[in-house]
Amino acid sequence: MQFTKKRQMIYEVLKKADKPLRTEQIKKRLNEKMNLSTVYRALDFLEEKNYIESASFGKTVRFFFCKNRFKHFLYCERCSDIQIFDVCAAKALEEVVLKEHRFQINSHIFYFTGLCEKCKGDKEK
Ligand SMILES: [Zn+2]
Ligand SMILES: [Zn+2]
Repeated sequence: MQFTKKRQMIYEVLKKADKPLRTEQIKKRLNEKMNLSTVYRALDFLEEKNYIESASFGKTVRFFFCKNRFKHFLYCERCSDIQIFDVCAAKALEEVVLKEHRFQINSHIFYFTGLCEKCKGDKEK
């Protein structure tokens, strides 16, 4: 499999993204019209080659992002929106894991699921 122009374009979209993106969002940000199956195949390729990684929520919601770019997410279970947050609480946990499991940690992804400000507001009204 080749790093084709289309794959390059999709990779560029993810490099510029300020947060993880779903397939449809990636498609919308492309300058060129591409059908969804081409986008899917490109994402598979990029993930397989370790350029990008993904996080899935449930069976249908999947976000893609550049390798090691984002690690901490807030995922809204109602509107399926994703936010990133910058606080990392992993250091203390890593020490525990290292001590108790002798497991070498290379990276981590951490997320909370819940309701975003907008969806939470709707519920309280
Ligand atoms: Zn929401
Ligand atoms: Zn962290």
